[in-house]
Amino acid sequence: MKPFRSCILALLPLVIGTAWAQDFSAQPSIWAGKPDGNAFDKIENDHLAAAQRAIDALVAVKAPRTIDNTLKLFDEAVMQLDSAAYLSGLMEQVHPEEAFRNKATAMVAKTNAAQTALSLNREVYRALAHLDLSGSDSATHYYVQRQLLEFRLAGVDRDDATQTKLKKLQDDLIKEQSAFERNISDGENSIAVTDPADLQGLPQDYIERHKPGANGKIQISTTYPDFYPVMKFAKSDELRRRLNLASDTRAYPKNTAVLKAMMGTRYEIATLLGYSSWADYNAQDKMIRSGANIAKFISDLDAAAQPTMQRELAMLLEAKQKVHPGASEIWDYENWYYPEQVRRSKFDFDSQAVRPYFPYQQVKQGILDTAAKLFHVTFRQEQNAPAWEAAVETWDVLDNGKPIGRFYLDMHPRTGKYSHAAQFPLLDGVHGKQLPEAALVCNFPAPTATDPGLMEIGDVTTFFHEFGHLMHHILGGQQHWAGIAGISMENDFVEAPSQMLEELIRSPAVLAGFAKHYKSGEPIPADLVARMNRAAAFGRAGFVARQNALSAISYDIYKTKPADVDLDKVSEDDYVRYGAIHRTPGTHMYDSFGHLANYSSMYYTYMWDKEIALDFYAQFDVRNPFAGETSIRYRQHVLEPGGSMSANDLVKGFLGRAQNMTAFKAWMSEQFAGSATKGP
Ligand SMILES: [Zn+2]
Repeated sequence: MKPFRSCILALLPLVIGTAWAQDFSAQPSIWAGKPDGNAFDKIENDHLAAAQRAIDALVAVKAPRTIDNTLKLFDEAVMQLDSAAYLSGLMEQVHPEEAFRNKATAMVAKTNAAQTALSLNREVYRALAHLDLSGSDSATHYYVQRQLLEFRLAGVDRDDATQTKLKKLQDDLIKEQSAFERNISDGENSIAVTDPADLQGLPQDYIERHKPGANGKIQISTTYPDFYPVMKFAKSDELRRRLNLASDTRAYPKNTAVLKAMMGTRYEIATLLGYSSWADYNAQDKMIRSGANIAKFISDLDAAAQPTMQRELAMLLEAKQKVHPGASEIWDYENWYYPEQVRRSKFDFDSQAVRPYFPYQQVKQGILDTAAKLFHVTFRQEQNAPAWEAAVETWDVLDNGKPIGRFYLDMHPRTGKYSHAAQFPLLDGVHGKQLPEAALVCNFPAPTATDPGLMEIGDVTTFFHEFGHLMHHILGGQQHWAGIAGISMENDFVEAPSQMLEELIRSPAVLAGFAKHYKSGEPIPADLVARMNRAAAFGRAGFVARQNALSAISYDIYKTKPADVDLDKVSEDDYVRYGAIHRTPGTHMYDSFGHLANYSSMYYTYMWDKEIALDFYAQFDVRNPFAGETSIRYRQHVLEPGGSMSANDLVKGFLGRAQNMTAFKAWMSEQFAGSATKGP
């Protein structure tokens, strides 16, 4: 019954006692019992049964509705359902045995169904609506008001006929969303290259991995490891153009009908519930609050990004004109290649030069030390603690020596494991009842006897990012209610604390703590950090502008009646207008824009949270982010409240005002500030 969580937060519960003291001696890890598939099923079914008992008891109450006889039971149901959903969601992605993962997938469906049933339970809704809240604190008021809003957005207060329709539309939408996503992942494409000279510019190891086949042709696919090196390094315009087109059309035309059906279903849901568009309906329980505010954000961000983006564009065109004299436009298939050229020629930075300073174990310890200093906590590894896989580490988080949470690190690839990076919640923290738990699931290179697992700078940034989610879950998990614990606020705030932590990688003071050469132990040279930061700053405005173009496409597709939307026109116009990049005719990118399924009109979230994250980080002393009171205020005002108030109020609590674009603008134009300027 919690709002949908964006950043792929799945979930893991431990055995939940109702009266545990807040101490790990009383809250053993679920893996202490090393559950097999049957034990897993029992744990899950016990959670679901406990949730149902709480709901039945709540509904059976005849007396006036109070916190004790109603909200406590409701929150118990929320906690039990979350626990079941978290565990199955994680196990589906990480358990080493396929049979166990399949069991978990079935359990994910079962727990989702139980959560949906609660969201449409009229008796529970009426009970909460009649709750006597006098004398309760503001967090409890906020919790109940937010739950009532979620109930109404699900249509719980509508008549039977409307509810039947809504249920059917929701079922249709789930099917349409998964068809849309499946068509994209099934649609991986490839192109054939006849002349090996077309691979000029690509790294030697790439060329060696792409030898001509029996037919004399080289196959290049649209999967990331094949795609990005070509886009960044291949000198051949034709090769980049063909591969980019193959990627953009990988679900075309199959997904056009699916997308139109999805737009139609969403429009019907929104209008049945009294809203003029899906974008407006979907914004109701977000920080942004309305479709009109999404349009305003896109327009404000456009104004902030354009001037710097134009300067970057001039540098890209200058690089392009060396090859194509007189060129006046940048095309989609040139949009990785020329930035790479500029980074090399103007900033003298090769990203491989920093890898020796980032062996995995050193980075892990560095991030733990950084988080400990920044958030005023300590970390302690539980030695020999069993987990779902031998390589998984179990860590306690302590505040003034007292345990306040636990997390698991499952950091290296293995067959059948989730292939991206994400934080998965496992248990909601409820003060005096249950400590919060979470897992980080990543795919960083594992250290071996001969290789210390040197990380790319992008991987180190990802580690910081995911650790930001983790600390948010743990520090926000000290609430009185499970339903407002951890990352449970409006989901267009979720990526702010994680993106805030990413910024630390720019700080020489932070890097000095752990970036040491894996052979010599020498700290990373200051001038290398400076060059890395300058190179990283190039192209930010263009990146933001293109993200904004995608936000505009996602909003424009859902802001009105589907019959009024010309998909080709909307996507081409927005891309040129906001992104200043021309699309190769015939790309139909909307059919492979996966976020149109799960984020729908909410793609703006990424840049919305970037603005907030940069405004947050600007409050810190960049030369020494640990200095002064800022980090403790950040912990208290941003992380600790969890979902006990609107994220708009969290932001005001820390900044003393609403977020604004000042820091975002400075971040975008950092390359042109002071001595870093080498461009026009
Ligand atoms: Zn994230």
